[in-house]
Amino acid sequence: MTAVFDIGPLIAPVNRLQGVGPARAERLAHLLSRESAAETRVFDLLSHIPTTVIDRREMVSVADVVERTVATLTVKVLRHEKSRRPGGPARIIAADDTGELVIVYFRGGGAWRAAHYPIGEWVRVSGLVEMWDGRPQMVHPDQSARVEGPEAPADTQFGLEPVYPLTQGITPGVLAGLIGEALGRVPDLTEWLDPAFKSRAGLPDFTAALKTVHQPQEGRDILPASPARRRLAYDELLASQLALAVVRDRDRTKKGVARHWDKAIVERLEASLPFALTPSQRTAVAEVSADLASPHRMIRLVQGDVGSGKTMVALFGAAMAAGDGGQTAVMAPTDLVARQHYETLAALLEPQGIGVRLLTGRISDAERAATLAAVEDGSAKVVVGTHALFQSSVTFKDLALVVVDEQHRFGVHQRLALSEKGPRSDLLVMTATPIPRTLVLAQFGDMDVSRLTDKPAGRQPVETRAVSISQIDAVMDRLAAALARGEKAYWVCPLVEDNPALEVESATARHRTLTKRLGPVVGLIHGRTPTAERDNVMAEFRDGALQVLTATTVVEVGVDVPDATIMVIEHAERFGLSQLHQLRGRVGRGSRPSTCLLLYKGPLGEIARQRLDTMRATNDGFRIAEDDLKLRGEGELLGTRQSGAPSFKFADLDHHADLLAIASDDARLVVNRDRDLTSERGRALRVLLALFERRRAIERLRAG
Ligand code: ADP
Ligand code: MG
Repeated sequence: MTAVFDIGPLIAPVNRLQGVGPARAERLAHLLSRESAAETRVFDLLSHIPTTVIDRREMVSVADVVERTVATLTVKVLRHEKSRRPGGPARIIAADDTGELVIVYFRGGGAWRAAHYPIGEWVRVSGLVEMWDGRPQMVHPDQSARVEGPEAPADTQFGLEPVYPLTQGITPGVLAGLIGEALGRVPDLTEWLDPAFKSRAGLPDFTAALKTVHQPQEGRDILPASPARRRLAYDELLASQLALAVVRDRDRTKKGVARHWDKAIVERLEASLPFALTPSQRTAVAEVSADLASPHRMIRLVQGDVGSGKTMVALFGAAMAAGDGGQTAVMAPTDLVARQHYETLAALLEPQGIGVRLLTGRISDAERAATLAAVEDGSAKVVVGTHALFQSSVTFKDLALVVVDEQHRFGVHQRLALSEKGPRSDLLVMTATPIPRTLVLAQFGDMDVSRLTDKPAGRQPVETRAVSISQIDAVMDRLAAALARGEKAYWVCPLVEDNPALEVESATARHRTLTKRLGPVVGLIHGRTPTAERDNVMAEFRDGALQVLTATTVVEVGVDVPDATIMVIEHAERFGLSQLHQLRGRVGRGSRPSTCLLLYKGPLGEIARQRLDTMRATNDGFRIAEDDLKLRGEGELLGTRQSGAPSFKFADLDHHADLLAIASDDARLVVNRDRDLTSERGRALRVLLALFERRRAIERLRAG
């Protein structure tokens, strides 16, 4: 058999299909989440898979129909009834041995109805049955056909019908027609799977799998566990893993830079710290140091629970890089955290003669211009920022190290974009979420890991209590007493999903009541607080002029005010487990005992109750992440809601995590054996990469 690598028909734009003009192509682009009609490919249409099926095969008699279900009935037409008022519905009365069915049309002419439903003839109709005036009725049957008689054999029209997500302007009929046509164009491509794996896993051919998913014979054919879905999921996961493996292979072998620095810099820096490093910080710093000194590129994850002191690892990495004249970019998840990292790093590095700059979307134009110039001429050795660091206007003289904090908020593409600013740079990713291996694989292919397993000495576990909101007065009394002892507190306002305006409103209202009760020691920050004001409020809270910080979830990650001891979370039942843990991690950072109060509004749902129980039971981030995973499922943790996370069309990590692990091994093996993908399987795999648009990997392969 000759190899078929031509995927032209699949990557052709959708307007090549019959009946797709410019307007329909636009609607399809919208439906398939593509930027433009020109970008929307025939394969995108085939990647749009049904969410459920309607089974029209089972026929029922009128007496047996269940209200509000889809049913298929064979009935004899008795008479047509015109509406009494013009424009009203037309009714067709039909019946079988067991009773009458009313078929209703709001549109369509009488002639059409007379031809389709001739009196005295049998018709088969399928659609939603409802009761009206005590009689079953079907409004605009989805399917209808004349048949010989009640026993006439079933037609494919009354089979299993896939149901797709739709958008305005694309009806089920139109979509089914287009998908049918697209299926007819799928070439019999040369297999890219390892034959032994394929047969062991019981996976069908690619083409057969596409057909099964779009033309299911059984309802289970479209479920994630079906062989067809698993085949397509594996293809998609393999494409993503292979792309990561190829990029990683190129990154690795394209040599990194062996950095050299004067060890005295590191010693001086360590001596200047107000505390001793923990043993695991020390180990992590040694690992980073070895990576920076080696000629290979570092790709390393630093995992450590909230408060474990990850920032220190970045600090030492930056100092070492600077010792060799190299620059470090530190990416923070929010403006607030960027600013805080900037302050921490500047306070410790500037005294060692290492210049630190801040670059966020909120600094003034003049400041920005000065920073960009300092980054370009190399005088700024460390630049801390948010997404602004990705921008093309940022040019580094010698980017040695990229540090990404709280990595789960950034996607692979952003990471790649940043590391391209220093094509030989090392990468350090810091995260509090102990990312399960499957997620690391999905995002990075694979990486080395340093774990911060111990917390700084003298830390005390945070005491956590769940308290009903009805006790809020008592909570305020206790808070007032704590403030009188000089303590500091965060008061986090309810999460209002998808409505930041409401969230701001409730924070503002809470700020008012707290100020009334506690006096002028309460500050407020939320997503819309102007930068300058936010900086002031944070500074006042840190310095003690303010003792309470009312906030939305803007304080969720990374905020560090070590002497804050009380965390109140209002409507705690609305927050996810890892979010609660992150928030709680804002306290318990010093040597004083801390408290976290979870104010909830009952009655609690089962999952909310479990979350609060877990929070009370443990301070251990690893255990919390495990429970979180159980409660939410991996797919959600991977976060389709979080920007930049890979989103899959066929794969669903709640069901296909096993395939991800296999795909990762498979991809690594392929790249080890055939790094240019030139073998027969390698060439077939290039087709797979093209099909799933792994452009960057393809470019790297072309570049050799
Ligand atoms: P996270 O891992 O949550 O990012 P941070 O890096 O923000 O933690 O550190 C939390 C707090 O602990 C900071 O105030 C930091 O100065 C402090 N810290 C870090 N390392 C140590 C240490 N070895 N001993 C004492 N305090 C430390
Ligand atoms: Mg941090």
